[in-house]
Amino acid sequence: MRTIGHFIGGREVKGTSGRTADVFEPMTGEVQAKVDLASKAEMRAAVENAKAAQVEWGNTNPQRRARIMMKFLELAQRDYDKLADLLAREHGKTVPDAKGDIQRGLEVVEFACGIPHLMKGEYTEGAGPGIDIYSMRQPLGVVAGITPFNFPAMIPMWKFAPAIACGNAFVLKPSERDPGVPMALAALMIEAGLPPGILNVVNGDKEAVDAILDDPDIKAVGFVGSSPIAQYIYERAAQTGKRAQCFGGAKNHAIIMPDADMDQTVDALIGAGYGSAGERCMAISVAVPVGKTTADRLMEKLIPRVEALKIGTSIDPSADFGPLVTRAALERVKDYVEVGIKEGATLAVDGRGFKMQGYENGFYMGGCLFDNVTKDMRIYKEEIFGPVLSVVRAHDYNEALALPSDHDYGNGVAIFTRDGDAARDFAAKVNVGMVGINVPIPVPIAYYTFGGWKKSGFGDLNQHGPDSIRFYTKTKTVTARWPSGVKEGAEFSIPTMK
Ligand code: NAD
Repeated sequence: MRTIGHFIGGREVKGTSGRTADVFEPMTGEVQAKVDLASKAEMRAAVENAKAAQVEWGNTNPQRRARIMMKFLELAQRDYDKLADLLAREHGKTVPDAKGDIQRGLEVVEFACGIPHLMKGEYTEGAGPGIDIYSMRQPLGVVAGITPFNFPAMIPMWKFAPAIACGNAFVLKPSERDPGVPMALAALMIEAGLPPGILNVVNGDKEAVDAILDDPDIKAVGFVGSSPIAQYIYERAAQTGKRAQCFGGAKNHAIIMPDADMDQTVDALIGAGYGSAGERCMAISVAVPVGKTTADRLMEKLIPRVEALKIGTSIDPSADFGPLVTRAALERVKDYVEVGIKEGATLAVDGRGFKMQGYENGFYMGGCLFDNVTKDMRIYKEEIFGPVLSVVRAHDYNEALALPSDHDYGNGVAIFTRDGDAARDFAAKVNVGMVGINVPIPVPIAYYTFGGWKKSGFGDLNQHGPDSIRFYTKTKTVTARWPSGVKEGAEFSIPTMK
């Protein structure tokens, strides 16, 4: 059986803790590999190694750092198909979707290639008599990323590319459920010319995460995963004085106005609700038609589309979506469907009985669709993270606007309408971090920032875009007057620029 160790000091090393976790192949349900789970001591050793390597890397000029990123892009293109296949087999999503996962990560690497420009400081000549002021951005040192199972290529790249480009050394603790692609990405960075020790992958579970949080040499932690863990990491990282940006779960609503193009809307809901088996933090999980006629028109078109969804193996290119990540995840989603029925929602399409012929042990289920969901129900309040879409009927626009705004989560939201006034009002007023107008998955492009509000994001800087450079650097400001400057004699009160 394949074993997956850690990637430390520029090469794969075997774990020494004696603890391992199973890595499944969701499409067959088989255990395909064992991943080592790091002990506190192994994490400490990786951090020490990274700390030693960072000094020279931080002093390497940004153009040379950018060139390594450029070379990495080239190597990732070379290995694209291989990476996508590995990703699909460990995660369960289809190969075309796995390619999207890799691509959205590479776009942030492309952004990081602009580091010589992005890290430029500010300069003011003559800020006072003979005084010039300038600021510079400096790397933090060793920083860490803790990432979820659902984007095993994209989210690690969102973290390590800007961090490393800024001159930091990086310790990645990816999800123990699909660690193969993060390991492969680290090897590609070394092949691209990254010095050993600058990008390390330490596999593990809570023990490895807690070792990161307690390590005094780790200066910042970027987390993506479920909200309770995001909040735990944010609070514990703050206690030890680390920078932290922690992104959590979601319940993304799509508001459907009476004037929406219903065919376009249904296409959008089907793709965004069920793609990747609903295991996306930006999946649409709640549809809110405004008015009874809109709701009836929506359901008439939506029900046959959900019934016709094609579930397939991860390597079937014609599948709409594949299996869920683990049996536990599958059972959890099915339990939520049962909860919804008990709470009184109408199960318009029930995909729980789906069986994949020839792959009976795989973690498959069909798409489920609930109608008449209300905001007091658990299936509305909690994140299900599976192929389940809930329809909450709103009487008018204001009621629809209030639903995502009052919800605990605030990651993404979309409105479908032809009315520019309504769209503009919605974008301005809705209490959610990322908004789509006739766009169901409004993940901003790499040079904007990504981040949710409320329980979907703890911390004050977003991922990628300009915020990522701010997060992974500290600003130093220098006020300079040379001896030849104006001589004013001793000054006992606070200097001002009067
Ligand atoms: P998870 O919270 O279970 O795990 C995320 C990471 O935390 C993993 O590396 C895991 O090993 C670690 N972890 C798990 N339990 C821990 C504990 N008790 N203590 C310390 N560390 C722990 O999340 P997941 O199931 O891997 O991913 C799915 C979740 O991630 C969903 O809630 C989804 O919405 C969210 N997500 C959010 C975003 C975003 O940008 N907001 C993006 C992708 C996924």
